[in-house]
Amino acid sequence: ATPTAIMAAIGNLTKHGILVKDGESIETLAKIKTVILDKTGTLTYGNPELVEIIPYESKISKDDLIYQLTSLESNSEHPLAKSIVKYYKNNYTEKLLEVTNFKVIIGKGVKGKIEGEEIIAGNKEFMSDKNIELPETYIKNNIESYLNTGSTAIYVARDGFLLGCIILSDILRENAESVISQIKDMDLNTALLTGDNKETGEYIASKVKVDTLKYNCLPEDKTSFIQDLQKQDERVAMIGDGINDAPSLKKADVGISMGDVGSDISIDASNITLISGDIKEIPHLIKLSKRTVKIIN
Ligand code: ADP
Ligand code: MG
Repeated sequence: ATPTAIMAAIGNLTKHGILVKDGESIETLAKIKTVILDKTGTLTYGNPELVEIIPYESKISKDDLIYQLTSLESNSEHPLAKSIVKYYKNNYTEKLLEVTNFKVIIGKGVKGKIEGEEIIAGNKEFMSDKNIELPETYIKNNIESYLNTGSTAIYVARDGFLLGCIILSDILRENAESVISQIKDMDLNTALLTGDNKETGEYIASKVKVDTLKYNCLPEDKTSFIQDLQKQDERVAMIGDGINDAPSLKKADVGISMGDVGSDISIDASNITLISGDIKEIPHLIKLSKRTVKIIN
């Protein structure tokens, strides 16, 4: 395409709330075969609500469970952590506990020390890495139904013992299903790659009807999925918002970030930004790229 055609396309896209950093990505976008999407913050709004606090047995009260968890999570920048802190501030006033040795385990959770004891919070895999058993009846009776309807569970353990779990529920962005269906109508493949668990991933994938789902993804799992497609000479667009998506946004032929909830690192790593995170503009973006390239070449 001529520079003029590219300039015109960029101008049009700006009016649609799409910021294009380099004209080349318009030309590349016209040739993609697969669109990969992240879940939390990309297909969903990324502001999950805390819906339930579920202590394990009577070891601990709900108030104490959320108190200890929030003390830990107040050190994290993750959207899940922010939601927990927000819930706490809306419902409690007590000053949080001091946490030392805070550490993030990407794609799994967080850990730190409170009063000299290790406290950890995160997903099932993280608990299993730490040898914390999640008793089957506790999960079946209290948690499973939430997971099967798309919510996320965060387990909390202190000093090697399970304290309980909290449930966070995020909602799909408006138009998520129709956006995927329009992308498929352009004869493109769609894949959902999430760091979240199997049940949550499957629920969202069945709602929006993507062709492929990969769950429990670490950042490097997302990049290697992209690399495998590229080895088959396919061009790939990746849409994501998190720090965990930055490597795959870079790796993809075209990286698209979310301007509303996206981390600075993900926006820097991308070629294109949806300024208000409006995914309904994605089909227009792809169609316009195709038109721009076709008319001029
Ligand atoms: P996604 O790819 O869906 O955007 P992430 O890779 O950021 O998700 O996170 C994957 C999973 O790791 C989350 O679903 C959660 O279970 C766990 N996790 C990440 N950060 C935290 C945190 N601060 N506290 C608890 N759990 C976390
Ligand atoms: Mg995300």
